Parts: sequence; structure tokens; C-alpha cells
Amino acid sequence: MGSTAYDFADEVVVVTGGSSGIGRAIARRFGDAGATVINADVQAETKDPGEGTPTHETIEDSGGTAAFVETDVSDPDDLGTVVEGAREFGGVDVMVNNAGIYIGVPFREVTREQFDRLHAVNARGVYFGTQVAANDMIERGEPGSIVNTASISSNVAQPGQVHYDSTKGAVRMITRGAALELAEYDIRVNAVAPGVIATEIMEGWSQGAIDALENEELVKQPPLGRAGVPEDVAGPALFLASDDAEYITGALLDVDGGWQVF
Ligand code: NAD
Repeated sequence: MGSTAYDFADEVVVVTGGSSGIGRAIARRFGDAGATVINADVQAETKDPGEGTPTHETIEDSGGTAAFVETDVSDPDDLGTVVEGAREFGGVDVMVNNAGIYIGVPFREVTREQFDRLHAVNARGVYFGTQVAANDMIERGEPGSIVNTASISSNVAQPGQVHYDSTKGAVRMITRGAALELAEYDIRVNAVAPGVIATEIMEGWSQGAIDALENEELVKQPPLGRAGVPEDVAGPALFLASDDAEYITGALLDVDGGWQVF
């Protein structure tokens, strides 16, 4: 598999949910590209199997610059603190609103508490992550780029996921609507839309995703014939943040092995 050598030297990138899974892969890839990376997560420890070192330490061990700020994205004040703290490094250039949680529950059984928590993290977190980052960029008079983590669930329904799918549908429209309002400030807003990615978003899903595809337990198989890994999503996220994507805003880039083509 090839990989593009992006250059984000002198840029400050905030990644929410950067301790594990997709966010960790994105954060590490930005670190490799020379960015100063701030991981904003509820916990520094990684859940990734076989990985023991927190993301910011991993980046620093490779010669990069990184920090961890304990952050709950469902609290806009926490997001404000992270973005304000990024000014110490020069101010946020790229905001990656990636943190998200998942539970599978049939539509008829979802409680108000489950609905509210999912929406607080997955939708409110992305909304205010986008808002505080954009306001800071505008206040500093700097252009910027925002990349959100949407999902195939932004477009497609699956059983037991209405409460989750509705948060990801929201991410799609936050991305499009913010892109519309922020274009005049030279701020682009895009999203990656991952398919089935092997992470610990559910305990054991790193292996479960692979098993589910092999045993044909999922509604359908991706044409590319395998579950994705977090690194599959990192490159597309960096592309959207890069100058190569300077004429792209409001887009959802599917990273799903072709899962949505049929
Ligand atoms: P993950 O659980 O491996 O990583 C999520 C990270 O977010 C963790 O480090 C966790 O600590 C952090 N987090 C959780 N709640 C938080 C909060 N309130 N504030 C700050 N950080 C918080 O899961 P992942 O699969 O890497 O998920 C990342 C994103 O990708 C999510 O938005 C998820 O919905 C999305 N996604 C995942 C898949 C998949 O199959 N894994 C598919 C499509 C989209």
C-alpha cells in the first residue's frame, strides 16, 4: 500500500478522540507529517490492542511535537479550553472532530439517556468542535481546515443503530452547513465517512469486525473484501486537510472499501 508524504510542518492540529482507533492513526499520521498534534480525549491511555504508549508520547518518541489535553467533547467549554490552549503553539490550523461512541440497541428499546449521550458526544461534540475552532481561526485572521469523522451511518441505515445513525446524519449536515457559512473566511469543512473499521469502539470489535465479515454476519460485505484498519482512514483525513483539497469543502469522503456502492 502506498502512502503520500504530506507536509504539515509549522501547523497545529487538534484531534479529538486521538487516544485510540481512527483518531490515534490520524494523530500519528499528522505527527509523521511534521504537525504539532494536540490529542483531546477523555483518557490518555490507548485502547488499541498491542499498543501501550499514549499517542502524544508515541509521536514525541518519533521526534515529533505533541500534547494531551483531557477533554470531554460533549462539553463545549472543554473544547474551548483545548482550542485556546493551542494558541500556545501558534493556534489551531486543523481541527479534527473525530471522537465518537457507539452502542447497538434496537430502535424500540433505546432509552432517553442513551439517545442523549450518543448525541452529546457524536453530534454536539462535532458541532461545537467546529464552532470553537472556526471562531478562533477567524479571530486570529487565519485560514483553516476542519475534518469531521462521519460514517457510512451518515447515509445508510443498519439495524440497531437509529440512535447512532441519527448522530452521524447530523455530522453530515454540520459539515455541509458549516462549510457554507465558513467558506468566506477561507475555512474548509469536510468529513471522512469510514465503513467497517477494526477498532475498540466496542470491546472486542478490533477482531469482531474481521470475524463478522468472514462469517457474513454483517448486512453486506465491502467489495474490497476486508474490514478497514484505522490507518485506512488517516490518509484520507490528511488529504482533506491538505492544500491538495483546497477546492473541496462540504464533502463526505467515503472510506468504506466500496460498501456504499450497492
Ligand atoms: P475508538 O473507541 O477506538 O476511539 C474513540 C476515541 O474517542 C477513544 O480514544 C475515546 O476515549 C474517545 N472518546 C470517547 N468519548 C469521548 C468524549 N466524550 N470526549 C473525548 N474523547 C472521547 O473508536 P473509533 O472506531 O476509532 O471511532 C472514532 C470515530 O470513528 C467515531 O466518531 C466513530 O463513530 C467513527 N466511526 C467508526 C467506525 C468503526 O467501524 N470503528 C465506522 C465509522 C465511523
